[in-house]
Amino acid sequence: MQAVVYRGKGEICMEDRPLPQLEKDTDAIVRVTLTAICTSDLHIKNGSVPRAVPGTILGHEFVGVVEETGQKVKSVHAGQRVAVNVETFCGECFFCKRGFVNNCQDENGGWALGCRIDGGQTEYVRVPFADQALTPIPDQVTDEQALFTGDLLSTGYWAAKIGEIRQGDTVLVLGAGPAGLCAMMCAALYRPARIVAADIDRSRLEFARKQGLADEFVDPSEVSLTEALREWTQGRGADVVIAAMYEEEQILPLPEMYGKNLIFKTGGVDACNCREILELTARGKLKGECLITHRAPLADAMEIYRLFENKEEGIIKAALTP
Ligand SMILES: [Zn+2]
Ligand SMILES: [Zn+2]
Repeated sequence: MQAVVYRGKGEICMEDRPLPQLEKDTDAIVRVTLTAICTSDLHIKNGSVPRAVPGTILGHEFVGVVEETGQKVKSVHAGQRVAVNVETFCGECFFCKRGFVNNCQDENGGWALGCRIDGGQTEYVRVPFADQALTPIPDQVTDEQALFTGDLLSTGYWAAKIGEIRQGDTVLVLGAGPAGLCAMMCAALYRPARIVAADIDRSRLEFARKQGLADEFVDPSEVSLTEALREWTQGRGADVVIAAMYEEEQILPLPEMYGKNLIFKTGGVDACNCREILELTARGKLKGECLITHRAPLADAMEIYRLFENKEEGIIKAALTP
């Protein structure tokens, strides 16, 4: 089967790989029907994910059909269409039991697929802990609609959830890339008064506007974000701010935060709300497929990587068909 493989810092390529086999009785083999490239794949390629193992097939955002299941797998069966979580998790350790599946203590726990073990930019994948990692896709939801369930939408859903957005709030989302756009989509579920999209890339703000994902659009390189927010909120500023990952240390003004009772939360997504996300998709409340700007066969993955890395042709997300 053809596969996109991480060769080591700065290098990815298409390779021919043997079909994966079940290794544990909690595994499933999934035939990939649609797969995507994530910004995290670029982080791996560029060497900023130290735990990524060279020789691994990339890809942690995909949907498919269950081909085969191990003896102990109960929640899915062969022939079923499934969305795959970015995180595989045991469901039994201290962290899993509390919903912190990103910190699952199993060696295959947390983000392993397409990072430490072979992932989904290929034709078939062995998925560990299939009962937790796979969620059946409702009949009325298409593969494109379900594609981002396990990673991007999970991230947006989780960010909006831990943001504790209340009806009538003003929510600021810093960054209108794929994760930011999903955060806006999920923030809207809480019926805030307004969602403000901020990005220095005007084309991304325009994309968010066209898709109706935010109410206000600010390029902070041109206008003061602080002043704009104060204007919309009788001077108080945003009630909830959702920001993307930081790669360097930041300084927080704790004395000021103390006075305002501000709460600061961080974390990697705990991708265990896939069922809810698919239900919301089936009801038309989430529309992840609107992020797909490019469609191509998996064989063209290298060219799509190039477009994605250079942000050419207005690419937001590509859907690749094996
Ligand atoms: Zn990702
Ligand atoms: Zn666990």
